[in-house]
Order: sequence, then structure tokens, then C-alpha cells
Amino acid sequence: MSFDLEKIRGLFPVLHQEVHGRPLVYFDNAATTQKPQSVLDALRNYYEHDNSNIHRGAHTLADRATRHYEATREKVKDFINSRESAEVIFTKGTTESINLGAQTFGRKFIGKDDEIIISTMEHHSNIVPWQMLCEEKGAKLRVIPIQENGEIVFEEFEKLLNPKTKLVSIVHASNALGTINPVKKIIQSAHEIGAKVLLDGAQSTSHLEIDVQELDCDFLAFSAHKLYGPTGLGVLYGKREILEEMPPFLGGGEMIKEVSFEKTTYNEIPFKFEAGTPNIADVIAFGQALDFIQSLGKKQIKAHEDDLLSYANQLTKDIKGFIPVGTAADKVSVLSFNIQGMHPFDVGQMLDARGIAVRTGHHCTQPLMHRFGIEGTVRASFAVYNTKSEIENMAEGIAKIARIKNK
Ligand code: PMP
Repeated sequence: MSFDLEKIRGLFPVLHQEVHGRPLVYFDNAATTQKPQSVLDALRNYYEHDNSNIHRGAHTLADRATRHYEATREKVKDFINSRESAEVIFTKGTTESINLGAQTFGRKFIGKDDEIIISTMEHHSNIVPWQMLCEEKGAKLRVIPIQENGEIVFEEFEKLLNPKTKLVSIVHASNALGTINPVKKIIQSAHEIGAKVLLDGAQSTSHLEIDVQELDCDFLAFSAHKLYGPTGLGVLYGKREILEEMPPFLGGGEMIKEVSFEKTTYNEIPFKFEAGTPNIADVIAFGQALDFIQSLGKKQIKAHEDDLLSYANQLTKDIKGFIPVGTAADKVSVLSFNIQGMHPFDVGQMLDARGIAVRTGHHCTQPLMHRFGIEGTVRASFAVYNTKSEIENMAEGIAKIARIKNK
């Protein structure tokens, strides 16, 4: 598809509505993106025509549902360029993907006095599962500091690496700041001392081209709902040789080969990690979301979003009282800010009154907010369907709001 913004917007029914009498401007894309009609149609089509359980059925509907479900796994494989689709595990989302990693890889390979490295800008879902593991095992969590502009201090990361480091689990792109971390370098350094690397790709997969073979990450976690797909669905990619060594996560149907009361043998990957009836409809619909992204190409998407971000920076930078939070050189399309003298929530409410949807608060990154000595920020995050005139509308709103306290 060529980059025709009006045509792209036409694919997203939710965008065409008014909020408080103003056209909706949806700038909360880092929380979740809107869904194109093809995703909505796929959900409906599944329930209207194909609804049945997968993998075991001898009948036509089950066969159709299974083929469509597994076709999405193939699409994910292509999307992240994994070697094989067996390395793609469906989960409930990034959160479950990271917990899966902690409860299986972590429990087996991380022991007393071992170390796990994360960074200051992690989402709570890439902090708490590791803290829980460390508490259980007597392992240690080490944290990479960040600079004032929201970039990690790479030399400090290198100093933290030592033979006890078993895992580096780091966000690829920060949801709160937009910072893109130098993950290729991080992975190389971690591998030199024999540590594995998990990338939290919740925010990077929708903006950046991802090639897990080129990056050489050991795990990649992400969520479908931030990729124009349905909620309640995510992926954990893992290298085959590591997944095979990992014990299962949840026990139940699908994940077994044979069960007796004495002993159970487990299924092959990825099914070993997909116990129970999965989220069939949403997986199938996710395939449509991936098709949508691939039809445009990440390069075009990123170029458009970069354009929006630099326009937003340009229009807001001279507003009196406007304080940007996170000014790294390499960013995804996230504009996080505060307005001098105002609570982020109040700013969010005032923007909502203009029909503009932004996120306010700590963005599930409380330690990061502590690092900056703030309670939270206002976050505008842009997606493929956003426009420059929407940015102008927001900048006008911010300028008006800022004038209340910054005359
Ligand atoms: N990590 C990051 C960087 C995120 O932005 C999010 C979602 N805000 C998550 C993890 C968790 O994703 P989910 O809620 O879809 O599990």
C-alpha cells in the first residue's frame, strides 16, 4: 500500500467519532493502538464461520481454524524473522511473556547469588517478575542507570556485567520516554560473558524493523494490541535450543505428549508452552494486523511517525512552562512532558476536553519517575494514522493550558 494517510485513516472505524463535540485525536497509541477493519472482520468471521477448537479436531471447521491460527504463527515468524515458527509462543501479552521467561528459564537457570540486569526505564512488567524470581532464588537484580536525557549509561552497563550475570532483560524502546536502547551492542556485550538477553519489544515492534536473527536476542516479548491487533494476546520468541531446555510454564491440555498418573511427557515447542485452549480468534485476527503493517512497511511507518514527532517537538519546544521528559537522540514517537505548575492528570483532562486522548501518570514505570523526581508525565504517542493537523491541534491546546500557570 502506498502511504495515503486518508486511506489509512479510513481503515480505522474508531477514529471517526467526536469526543466532547470535537473530532477524536487519538494519541494514546503506546497504551494500545486502534484496530483496522480487517482485524474486526477477522474476529467476526471466525465466530460466524469457523468457531471450533484447534489442533485436535477431525472436522472441517476445526481444520480451518487450525490452519488460520497456525498461519498467524508463520506471519509472526516472518515479522520478526525467526528461524522457524516453532520459536514463536503465543501468550496473553508482553507481561505474560516475561513472566513465562522468569518462571521457566529463570527458575531453571538462575540461582543463588546470580545476577539479572535490567535498566532504570523498565516497565513494571519487566521489573516485578524478576524481583519475584530473585526473592525466591536469592539472586540479585542490578539496574543500569540512565542519563538526564533518558539514555542508558552504557559504560555503567558494561561495569555491571560479570560472570554471575545470567540474564539481561531490557526494554527495546521505552514506553514512558520513547528512548530506543542500543540493544545490538547490549546483546553483544552480554553474550561475551555468557549471559542471555530478553528484549521487551512491547513498544519497539510497532515502530522498528525487528530481525531477531540479526539482533541475536535470546528472547523477545511483545503484545498484539500495540500492533493494531487484539488485546489479550502476545508473543514470546525464544531461540529453539533455549526453549527446548526450559521446563513448561502452565500444565494442562495441549502441552503434553502423554499423561499417566506416574509421569507426563511434554509436547514439542511451541506447544509445550501453550497449555489449554488458546486465544484462537484473536490470534487469527492478529494475522490481519500483521498484514496491515507489512502492506505499509515499517520503514514508511517509522518515517511518518518520526515526522510527527519532530513536528510535535518543534511546535512545543518554545511554549513557556513546557518541560519535555526524555530527549534521547534515538526515539520512537513518544512525546512525554510536564507543564510547569500543573499536575499531569489535569493537563490530560483539559486535552480530553478538546477531544485529544493522551496518557497521564507514571506509565507503569515508577522507578523511572523517581529517577527524574517527578510523579508522572503527560504522554502523547503517535501511530501510523495520526496527522500533522492533529499535532497542531494538540500543540495549540498545550500552549493554552500552559498559559494558565505560566504567564
Ligand atoms: N513493556 C512495555 C515497554 C510496555 O509499554 C507495556 C505496555 N504498556 C508492557 C511491557 C506490558 O504489556 P501488556 O500490558 O500488553 O502485557
